[in-house]
Amino acid sequence: MEPQAPTTVVGIDLGTTNSLAATIRNGRPEVFRDSTGIALVPSCLSFHPDGTVLVGTAAKERALLDPTHTIFSVKRLMGRTLADLQGELKHIPQQIVEREVQPGRKVLRVRVDDKEYTPEELSAMILQEVRKRAGNPTKAVITVPAYFDDAQRQATRDAGRIAGLDVLRIVNEPTAAALAYGLDKADAGTIAVYDLGGGTFDCSILSLADGVFKVLSTNGDTYLGGDDFDRAIMDIVSNELKLVPDAELLQHLREAAERAKMALSTADSTELVIDLPQRKIAYRRTFTRTEFESLIAPHIDRSLAKCQAALRDAKLKPSDIAEVVLVGGSTRIPYVRQRVEAFFGRKPHTDLNPDEVVALGAAVQADILTSGRRDRLLLDVIPLSLGIETLGGVVDKVIDRNSTVPCQATTRYTTFVDNQTAITINIYQGERELTQDCRLLGQFKLGGIPPMPAQMAQVDVTFRVDANGMLRVQAKEQRSGQQAIIEVKASHGLSQDEVERLVLESVDHAHADFSARRFIEYKNKADADLRHTAKALDQAGAELTPEQRARIDAATATLKAAMAGTDADDLHRAVDAFGAATLPLAELLMNAAAKKLLRGQHDDAIES
Ligand code: ADP
Ligand code: MG
Repeated sequence: MEPQAPTTVVGIDLGTTNSLAATIRNGRPEVFRDSTGIALVPSCLSFHPDGTVLVGTAAKERALLDPTHTIFSVKRLMGRTLADLQGELKHIPQQIVEREVQPGRKVLRVRVDDKEYTPEELSAMILQEVRKRAGNPTKAVITVPAYFDDAQRQATRDAGRIAGLDVLRIVNEPTAAALAYGLDKADAGTIAVYDLGGGTFDCSILSLADGVFKVLSTNGDTYLGGDDFDRAIMDIVSNELKLVPDAELLQHLREAAERAKMALSTADSTELVIDLPQRKIAYRRTFTRTEFESLIAPHIDRSLAKCQAALRDAKLKPSDIAEVVLVGGSTRIPYVRQRVEAFFGRKPHTDLNPDEVVALGAAVQADILTSGRRDRLLLDVIPLSLGIETLGGVVDKVIDRNSTVPCQATTRYTTFVDNQTAITINIYQGERELTQDCRLLGQFKLGGIPPMPAQMAQVDVTFRVDANGMLRVQAKEQRSGQQAIIEVKASHGLSQDEVERLVLESVDHAHADFSARRFIEYKNKADADLRHTAKALDQAGAELTPEQRARIDAATATLKAAMAGTDADDLHRAVDAFGAATLPLAELLMNAAAKKLLRGQHDDAIES
């Protein structure tokens, strides 16, 4: 789909594996596709020594040649600290470092050679690619998993800013999926969203009442998804190959495994071929759908156990669920559909492409926000409770989870010791009772309290959450009128200044992106030229002089070398030179065509 009129507002699914955008056209949500009909932009980046950054398919393809400069799954790092990631560092191939940019403010960075990038910047590069495909809109709704906490949402919002987007709203992925199916209009009751993507699995139980979606519970596994199915196939193949695969072979295996897996979603059997003559590898093997299903069955069992847990948390049984929505590319697998249907005892919604449904719903939400149609005011809820630390490391909840936003609540506190002139307010998010089990979102101090006996001061702490789920906390001592306010930003992640700086810097990235794009465009042209010339040589090659032929061969070699490189200007020159060298061939063919045409006219003349 080429943008007809410039689109200004889009919905974006910023996924762990794939990202894409959608907008409302003629009253219906539609995803943006490239000229070949592909909507998904792989959430993948490839860095070159010359500073060029490839994004999306081009980057995923380069992964094969240059795995150490390829970055996947940035979403896992968004709004996290090194401490959060301890348990999963073994799954993360990139080198992660943490820098203290200001006292107490830590920022996570990904190292690539001698450069470091924040997860927000990396996600922004993906968003920029998605944005370009959508015709450079200026406003967006971006989706996040329902379990994302304030810091992760803030990081996503910052990434949008860096990519030059005005982020209207951060929306939960399952809510977006339900919206895409119009379940808000049906007053559908309780909805289960089963989302099996590339690397993650989420099950969310939503309830819908009066146009408001509440997340009753979520459960899932941040390391369960289509990648596991690929790996199961890869394990079999690498065992049978009797080779310990190196990085390059591993990438070949991964590609072949994913292709076989996808084929089995529509065919009963498929042949997996790995043909690397230069490494003396020629491998073929048939996989049947039945064999594949037995490979993935344990993973699907695990996902359904998570659904069970989500239902238990919401105090529901499978039969209480009125609607089941399938999300994520891996739910294209027929076996997954069967198992989910059997588990909930009802047919899931499958009319929309499961890997596009979140973006479609985000577009619906963006439309609701910008069209000003009050009849479809759709609100979201706070995913995790917000509170402050009181005596003994206990969290006192000020705003409960599932409160609809925007909202505000005030709780009164007092001083603990005589003549206490300041209190420190620590703000936490989470469902557990103790601070150690919740996440510290920020802290501030209210000073200037006049000395008075313990318990006399009256400090009102007000939490305000705006429509985007962003929190502002105010503390005011009522007797003295002393007050302090903070806009809560996580104690890690980017500061406002850093975001602004990155927005400016992204102009530089835009240059690198532009050069990467030019390279790809010339490469596509070169591919086409080479194909056409090969065909022309078959037809008329014999009529060329040896010099003409030699010039074509030399220009072909130069062109292929430039295609293997990274320099767009080099490639441009090589494409032009190739065009000049093949001119005599084109003339030969044109003459032949003209002759044929003249003969044709002559024949006609005789007949008439
Ligand atoms: P995410 O939400 O994690 O960013 P997606 O929802 O796009 O990702 O899901 C990507 C996963 O879906 C990949 O593992 C991919 O191999 C898998 N997938 C896509 N199409 C098919 C298919 N036809 N059959 C099986 N798996 C598929
Ligand atoms: Mg997804």
